[in-house]
Amino acid sequence: MDINPLVNSLIPSSISVGLLLSFFTYLAVAGSILPGKIVPGVTLTDGTRLHYRCNGLLLLLVLIALLGIGTQLDIVSPTIIADRGLELLSTTFVFSVLVTLLLYVVGCKSSDQNSSLKPHVTGNLIHDWWFGIQLNPQFFGIDLKFFFVRAGMMGWLLINLSILLKALKDSNLTQSMILYQIFCTLYIIDYFFYEEFMTSTWDIIAERLGFMLVFGDLVWIPYTFSIQGWWLLHNKVELTTAAIVANCLVFFIGYVVFRGANKQKHVFKKDPKAPIWGRPPKVIGGKLLASGYWGIARHSNYLGDLLVALSFSLPCGISSPIPYFYPVYLLILLVWRERRDEARCAQKYKEIWNEYCNLVPWRILPYVY
Ligand code: NDP
Repeated sequence: MDINPLVNSLIPSSISVGLLLSFFTYLAVAGSILPGKIVPGVTLTDGTRLHYRCNGLLLLLVLIALLGIGTQLDIVSPTIIADRGLELLSTTFVFSVLVTLLLYVVGCKSSDQNSSLKPHVTGNLIHDWWFGIQLNPQFFGIDLKFFFVRAGMMGWLLINLSILLKALKDSNLTQSMILYQIFCTLYIIDYFFYEEFMTSTWDIIAERLGFMLVFGDLVWIPYTFSIQGWWLLHNKVELTTAAIVANCLVFFIGYVVFRGANKQKHVFKKDPKAPIWGRPPKVIGGKLLASGYWGIARHSNYLGDLLVALSFSLPCGISSPIPYFYPVYLLILLVWRERRDEARCAQKYKEIWNEYCNLVPWRILPYVY
């Protein structure tokens, strides 16, 4: 097999570097200018709080409008991402390595003692580079952790849209592609609609910014979550009406549970007395919600997310395991994460966590796990 074309398609060109830098510049500039709700983050150990400008949805819509205009004026090729997928992937990977090396160096040199910038150095270079040195490093006042996760989610949608336009251009638009595109677009739009909920998630509050998170946000999310789309560009699947209906149901149920559970926790954190499903909430030790989805399993939100992930792959049928990469990966990640979160909560909440576990014994899937 001649591997030269493959190797060549992986080498970053000035076009892919330009595309990536334009994207980041747009996110940095427009993200600082466009209006958005200013949301306070969780209180850090030193009592300080970061503030996040949640204008991701507006940022996304303006970007898509600009790209649409650029396409009409023949300045932008609508299939450029789909045509240069591998090259963009390697460019983003190289960028992630470089930026995290820089974060490592800057972090090690920091003498700041506040919770956001305090350096956590073990002395093991690989460990420190991988997990990061600082909790919330900034660049010209931009919180980089929030910035990168936003870039990754938007990048995923841009890749999908380019794949969709390529399928249209090649007269290869199938029911499977339409279903996949609709589910992912709804999920990503929903993510930005509820962007403020991100400010209390594990990645934002607990992980330091190192290669693991930057690579996860910039490379892993956009390029592996879109595998189904790439796969559908080259494979045809015939879906029965029953399969389409079942697929829509999996998405719908997953979405309702995922969004409902995350929303209940978010509302509870803001107002512990707010009704859950129309009733006063059951609260343990004044801190833990044991009503609604949080009274059914301790991580129903993970279950919902897993169903949604499955619904992204079902349009591809069952002839190949490749399109199931995302739900399988997410299953492993969320089971692992649930264990880590459990340990963190047990340490933080002590006996009231045990009380909660006794009352709600199921971790993710009621009556099974
Ligand atoms: P959660 O949003 O579930 O947050 C866990 C935290 O919530 C705990 O550490 C604790 O924090 C608090 N908490 C836990 N139980 C309770 C309770 N009963 N009452 C009140 N507070 C509670 O976890 P994640 O941040 O991991 O996930 C957020 C969403 O992101 C999920 O829907 C997940 O599926 C999704 N996700 C998706 C990924 C993907 O790749 N698609 C990857 C990772 C996550 P505290 O100390 O503040 O009380």
